[in-house]
Amino acid sequence: MTIYSEMESAVQCYARSFPTEFNRAQGVFLFDSNNRQYLDFLAGAGALNYGHNHPVLKQALLNYIAADGVTHSLDLHTVAKSRFLEAFRNHILRPRQLDYRLQFTGPTGTNAIEAALKLARKIKGRRNILSFTNGFHGVTLGSVAATGNSHHRSGAQVSLNDVVRMPYCGYFGDQSDSLAMIEQLLSDPSSGIDLPAAVLVETVQGEGGLNVASDIWLQGLARLCKRHDMLLIIDDIQAGCGRTGTFFSFEPSGIKPDMVTLSKSLSACGLPMAVLCLRPELDQWQPGEHNGTFRGNNYAFVTATAAIQHFWLDDNFSRAVAQRAAQVTQCFQQLVSHFGNEHLRRKGRGLMQGLECRDGELAGRISQQAFDKGLIIETAGNRRQVVKCFCPLTISESELGAGLERLSESFHSVLGKQLRRV
Ligand SMILES: *Cc1c(COP(=O)(O)O)cnc(C)c1O
Repeated sequence: MTIYSEMESAVQCYARSFPTEFNRAQGVFLFDSNNRQYLDFLAGAGALNYGHNHPVLKQALLNYIAADGVTHSLDLHTVAKSRFLEAFRNHILRPRQLDYRLQFTGPTGTNAIEAALKLARKIKGRRNILSFTNGFHGVTLGSVAATGNSHHRSGAQVSLNDVVRMPYCGYFGDQSDSLAMIEQLLSDPSSGIDLPAAVLVETVQGEGGLNVASDIWLQGLARLCKRHDMLLIIDDIQAGCGRTGTFFSFEPSGIKPDMVTLSKSLSACGLPMAVLCLRPELDQWQPGEHNGTFRGNNYAFVTATAAIQHFWLDDNFSRAVAQRAAQVTQCFQQLVSHFGNEHLRRKGRGLMQGLECRDGELAGRISQQAFDKGLIIETAGNRRQVVKCFCPLTISESELGAGLERLSESFHSVLGKQLRRV
């Protein structure tokens, strides 16, 4: 029996897929306690977009600690915080013509979602929130009520109220227009749908299986929100911070959400940090009305600021991400054309792509094969049927090539066998 099976709760899940003990991490690599090297295409489920221990970020943090920088400060003003706010305003918001205030919430993504939902309900004086099929927004009670996944929902053990679910872009296939359906339901005083205070949506559903909302759909959704006086909240916790190629995932659509949640890769090196970006008019909180001991992690401010200054002052990083994304697309298209559309489907966009298998059992076996070959890659989706390629965005062409080769081999070995059997 290991210390983990003796002491750690059965609730652990990733550790079951990748049963080894990790010890060291650098760039796109993880090393276990036997010094075996793995390519990390899980990347903290999107919390490690800049890889492990990026030298620039690590040095910034080491300098800050060495100088006795403030570590914990509730929501007191600190130099680390003001530097982050300035960098975020000057280099993220202003160039994109976005005007947001930042609310530092508790340090996890679900804390930012809870704050967004609470504030939207307070502002509009309505209880209902509109969220989507296959959406994932966290597992605290407010967030899990807006989450689709029955496995997560059933963990709540209380009624999950005040959320109405609508079909996501393409949920009923390409021919069906889910926005027209939502419009009709909201316009009909007898539809039985109470007018929501806000719409909560991911532009690419991360845990839900890399389903993509088209730009046209997002634009239509933004107009629908205006027509029905609902706030538009984009959950960019997973798709944001460059994962789809731009800092915010909604940039190509041109929409300007009322609120945006960010967490996962915001600190840039795996430190916990979350923010709610909100239009200044929406900042209707009373002081301390929404609270928390760990709002604003100064170490995370330091590394987040360093990441903005290192990666986001021009569009070189975005262009590199687009090139790596094209490399993934090309590899996945080859696999799809080899195995046929009825066996594999390409999902997602940017470096948020995956391959959908016929069922979760096959996808799980591919992930296990990849692990045996030294590649850590997870599955997502309503039936865990999507093999989800989440390499660090900083990956080099040759490192990505090596990972994709291991992944392709895994597909060939698992699906090839399967197809020969049929
Ligand atoms: C991970 C995630 C969350 C929840 O973040 P936690 O830090 O796990 O609470 C919310 N929304 C999306 C889209 C996520 O991917």
